[in-house]
Amino acid sequence: MTRVVVVGGGVGGTLTANYLAGKLREELRDGKASITLITERDKQLYEPGLLYLIFNRMERDELFKDMEYLLDPAIELRIERALKVDTDAKRIETTEAEYDYDYLVIATGSRLAPEEIPGLKEAGHWFYSLEGAERLRDEIAKFEEGKIVVSIMGIPHKCPVAPIEVTFMLHDFFKLHGRRESVEILYTYPINNVFLMPEVADLVRQYFDERNIKYKTFFNPIEVDPENKKIITLEGEEEDFDLLIAIPPHKGSELAINSNLGDKNGWIPVDRHTLRVEGHDDIYAVGDATNLPVSKAGSVAHFEAEVVSENIAAEIKGLPPTARYFGKAMCFIEMGSELATYIWFDYETPPKLVKPNKFIHWSKIAYNRMYWLTARGIL
Ligand SMILES: Cc1cc2nc3c(=O)[nH]c(=O)nc-3n(C[C@H](O)[C@H](O)[C@H](O)COP(=O)(O)OP(=O)(O)OC[C@H]3O[C@@H](n4cnc5c(N)ncnc54)[C@H](O)[C@@H]3O)c2cc1C
Repeated sequence: MTRVVVVGGGVGGTLTANYLAGKLREELRDGKASITLITERDKQLYEPGLLYLIFNRMERDELFKDMEYLLDPAIELRIERALKVDTDAKRIETTEAEYDYDYLVIATGSRLAPEEIPGLKEAGHWFYSLEGAERLRDEIAKFEEGKIVVSIMGIPHKCPVAPIEVTFMLHDFFKLHGRRESVEILYTYPINNVFLMPEVADLVRQYFDERNIKYKTFFNPIEVDPENKKIITLEGEEEDFDLLIAIPPHKGSELAINSNLGDKNGWIPVDRHTLRVEGHDDIYAVGDATNLPVSKAGSVAHFEAEVVSENIAAEIKGLPPTARYFGKAMCFIEMGSELATYIWFDYETPPKLVKPNKFIHWSKIAYNRMYWLTARGIL
């Protein structure tokens, strides 16, 4: 019996397990293979919905689904926290038990590390967690006048375009509520532009200017002063705010650090084409957990899950594992005013931008409802 263990029930882990179950139907039925998914929560959170939750456009219940509903019935589900991988013994230890594996897939995502910026926890808000998004929703609803700063406090972070989207959505929200004239919006970014990809940055700057959204670049916060409501930067600047919407620094998984599989921040080094963890033929990583220079996005986790599941299934069937990941990523970008665009890119191909339009915006809204079919491996 070949045992596949997947850790993490987010986009990457759920899809890898579901695709594997589809490809190994006979082997699972005949007891020649097993798939176990270990994850710490019994529900999956649809993170892109948090962007809509803060403007009351999606509700908490719409953002969760039971793992049991999402997973193929042939997969054994364990709601446990994985603590450590013993790569020599090929065994993973959890809060409840130990599991031997022949193939291990790590899909533990990334975690927020607001504690890296002193004062941020006390003075800042963020929408990258459910609790944070709900608190921020209440703050936005009662914000009458003053200065909102949207500040990206470290790269890499999940969904690189989400801070741009929230900035346009803030503009829309206050315009709709007749308060835009009394609300100043400032967006800050760590590098010498408003976004990593120049094609996207050009369009965003144009839209920011047209909407009187201010921006500052080369802006790297090192501290937040909660008493005086100021951000202090590495560059020696001080910026005051009435409401701070931060994208906190991100780190990789503690499991990777505890198991000597990740770098000091927990990002797991993998082969950029096979997603095999460096130095381990039987361990793969997918999604936000890896150190690849691709977006930390659900679409990336999805495309990577296709490659990893195909190669593991091929090996179990005694076939050569020939699938390769070429850096494919796809992101919608909400630009406000019911307009959106999207970008496709990979390791070799830079993104080509489509003019923002209503059709793409409504496609994203529809996708927010259809995502659960994707997670189940149906769409
Ligand atoms: C506000 C926001 C908007 C976004 N918008 C988009 C978008 O429009 N498009 C897009 O493509 N992406 C978007 N993303 C990014 C996307 O949500 C993530 O990139 C994606 O969820 C990554 O999938 P993953 O499987 O790698 O990790 P995750 O989905 O984070 O899943 C990791 C899972 O592992 C579990 N886990 C972690 N450690 C352990 C452990 N030790 N033991 C057991 N379980 C563990 C976690 O609880 C979690 O369930 C957005 C993210 C945010 C926050």
